[in-house]
Amino acid sequence: MRLGVRAALVDGRLLDGDVEIEGDRVSRLGARPPGAAGIAVPGFVDVHINGFAGVDFLDADADGYRRAGEALAATGVTAFLPTLVSCPLDAYGEAVATVASLGGCLRPRALGIHLEGPFLSPRWAGAHDPRHLREPEPELAHRLCADGPVRMMTLAPELPRAMEVIEGLSARGIVVSCGHSDADAEIAHAAFDRGAEAITHVHNAHRRWRPRDPGLGGVAVARPDVTVQAIVDHVHLAPETAYATFLAARGRFCLVTDAIEGAGLGSGDHRLGAATVRVTDGAPRLADGTLAGSVLTMDQAVRNLTAMGAPLADAVHAATRVPARLVGRPDLGVLHEGGTADVAVLDDDLRVARTVVEGVEVFTRA
Ligand code: ZN
Repeated sequence: MRLGVRAALVDGRLLDGDVEIEGDRVSRLGARPPGAAGIAVPGFVDVHINGFAGVDFLDADADGYRRAGEALAATGVTAFLPTLVSCPLDAYGEAVATVASLGGCLRPRALGIHLEGPFLSPRWAGAHDPRHLREPEPELAHRLCADGPVRMMTLAPELPRAMEVIEGLSARGIVVSCGHSDADAEIAHAAFDRGAEAITHVHNAHRRWRPRDPGLGGVAVARPDVTVQAIVDHVHLAPETAYATFLAARGRFCLVTDAIEGAGLGSGDHRLGAATVRVTDGAPRLADGTLAGSVLTMDQAVRNLTAMGAPLADAVHAATRVPARLVGRPDLGVLHEGGTADVAVLDDDLRVARTVVEGVEVFTRA
């Protein structure tokens, strides 16, 4: 299959010419064909997404995953981590088992699960139901992750025994991301020294960054070994906050959506776990006004970041290679000869025209 594009973003450089795919691989970067249009970029990888297009991953079945996947493909996503908000302990098992049962047969690919909780700070619960938050227990962490393909856990490192959980999960190859946390700088450094690798939605739901109290956010942005996940939707972060953070973190800045089931559906009432969320003006909120996830899409996040001044290559990097690398899939989020054929084709307005997963075209714009 030839994509018929005029250029491709290869290892951060825009190369003139077409992309050819054979089987599940990019076979060749060839000459630009007559009538070529669009740019091929690596498919987007979203490591924080609670639901999409009417599907909440906490109670989605296989059919729900397929519907959400179809809608995600239209936004250029080729891989994602279904993300579960804090919930009653007996609710995790089935949600995790569903993803396990899907195996590798979903397109876009479900790379594993992101557990956002339950070891979060009640002070920074955000939209998480405080009744479902718990103090860290290494045995419980082990049990939650034993039921299926958990790839990432967000936790608050200042909670008792959190450091033990960080070390235990890291030793098993599960990514620990710090968030919903009141950690000060000292605790944040300790968490990253012990194996935590990322911050969850920087500047949202954690101790504020103050001049002499940088907290988790300041440490994460300043440390060269930390991936900085951000929701660039103009709701969670002012454009200046998002862009300044991007400039500071640059090659480790990671776009995520934190989307909920209402994403892709417009205004109205939707769910996040057991909570009802009202979406108005592009912002999902609980009845008390608390932000509850987003209705952002990855392609919109890329457009938002480029509109602030980020080069296209950097914005795409933040939506592809950085998240793929974070979850231990350096084979994804890149586009090069011989590499995996997970590709999005963007038009001149950076809107998604086609999406290919494992060499199979899963979305074609009408
Ligand atoms: Zn959150």
